[in-house]
Amino acid sequence: MYRDTQLFIAGEWVGGAAKRRLGVINPATEEPIGTVACAEVADLEMAVAAADGGFKKWSGMSAFDRSEIMLQAARLLKERAADIGRSLTLEQGKIRDEARFEPLRAAGELEWAAGEARRAYGRVIPARNPNATVLTTRNALGPVALFSPWNFPLNQLARKLAPALAAGCSVVAKAPEETPASPAALVQALHDAGLPPGVVNLVFGEPAHISDYLIKHPSIRKISFTGSVAVGKQLSALAGAHMKRSTMELGGHAPVIVCKDADVDLAVEQMARIKPFNCGQTCAAPNRLIIHEDLYDRFVTAFSSRFAKIRVGDGMSEDTQMGPLANIRRLKMMESFCADALRKGAKLTTGGQRIGNKGYYFQPTVVEEAPDDAMVRQIEAFGPLIVATRFRELDEAIAEANRLPYALACYAYTRSIATAKRLATSVECGNLIANDVVLALPELPFGGMKESGYGMEGGTEGIDAYLATRLLSFS
Ligand code: NAD
Repeated sequence: MYRDTQLFIAGEWVGGAAKRRLGVINPATEEPIGTVACAEVADLEMAVAAADGGFKKWSGMSAFDRSEIMLQAARLLKERAADIGRSLTLEQGKIRDEARFEPLRAAGELEWAAGEARRAYGRVIPARNPNATVLTTRNALGPVALFSPWNFPLNQLARKLAPALAAGCSVVAKAPEETPASPAALVQALHDAGLPPGVVNLVFGEPAHISDYLIKHPSIRKISFTGSVAVGKQLSALAGAHMKRSTMELGGHAPVIVCKDADVDLAVEQMARIKPFNCGQTCAAPNRLIIHEDLYDRFVTAFSSRFAKIRVGDGMSEDTQMGPLANIRRLKMMESFCADALRKGAKLTTGGQRIGNKGYYFQPTVVEEAPDDAMVRQIEAFGPLIVATRFRELDEAIAEANRLPYALACYAYTRSIATAKRLATSVECGNLIANDVVLALPELPFGGMKESGYGMEGGTEGIDAYLATRLLSFS
């Protein structure tokens, strides 16, 4: 049911120079379910050489031919969604519905980018010299290195791979060792759709060694990383030292500002629906409820009651509403957040405990009355835990939202356009969304400010990140 994963280099699945393998664990049971091959330097050398050759082929094809292959890969992903979803649940823990949906989301990324490939227009610029023609073209940057994380193992890779391929770049991707089979299924779909060998290469192994090798390699022209702020800073520093472009999609700590005039039922319904998504392991997950004091008790009571009723269990079971955390690090972090909050005088309105002693299950948890310096109010939970605070004046809510160095997503609930506009101009974030929760679709640019990173994925901005503008002047 769960297949071992190899490296994909120059169009072939290979076991790696040293045949070293890492184990893959099912977070629902803590049982080993398979293995993944590890890349050595020799494998990385071959992957970059393949990407060099792949770039010549791929960037030399018309955007129309490139987009046909991407669209065929999208069709294959949709056909294989149920199978891929099973592997995804086994390796990552997410529930079946979410796991079946992820290949469809990834297919959507390929479809959107395939369309954008045909619209990577340059410009004609009026020339001062009447005999001159001045124009810009937009050209693929070259081979790029993509580093994707384990929370959406398939879709996070697709959000990088699709625009890179649309632009005409070739790729060496390092996908997560903990969840390797579903990103490998994306690469398999591209291969089966007719992607020329060498255009996409997929490696796993020791993350720091791989990123160090790839970022320094002169053939690699750009990197894109999604993961923690700490690792993002290391990789962007290395990229800077080697003058490589980079896109950094890092952590957030999303505030949810519930204003005095909010539709509380809508806010509770939407927050209670999206917080358990992927067991809270999303960078845009609502984390910090900042609620007007008049609505505070009503909101927290209704939210906590719904959150506490979530059925937590093995994602393979169809009636489970929230699976386990994806790895032991996250479980330990949830325990640390709660212990730290209690030590500092906070109150747990619901949850706060590991569930059972096998599998990384944690109760849906609401924390109240945590002081500013509590961990839960400082760093993102990346799990099923949310903290509530209250405010009186809107300025206090804005100050609380902006208090941290992160600025990714912000949710707001208000019936007033003036208040929504005020929040839009005052809250530092890459994405502000009022009275709704739809984010990170293929056509929507998504990215952060401050320590949440730079550059956008999705939208036309997503493909821009893989294109170099060149000025050409003829007279
Ligand atoms: P981490 O930073 O150690 O790892 C995140 C990802 O980066 C993993 O896939 C890992 O393999 C990779 N990675 C780690 N070191 C690397 C290196 N030197 N070079 C290249 N890749 C490297 O964190 P973690 O324990 O896996 O997750 C903890 C935190 O990371 C979370 O709390 C969250 O803040 C953040 N995170 C964010 C996202 C996101 O979607 N933005 C996704 C995953 C994790």
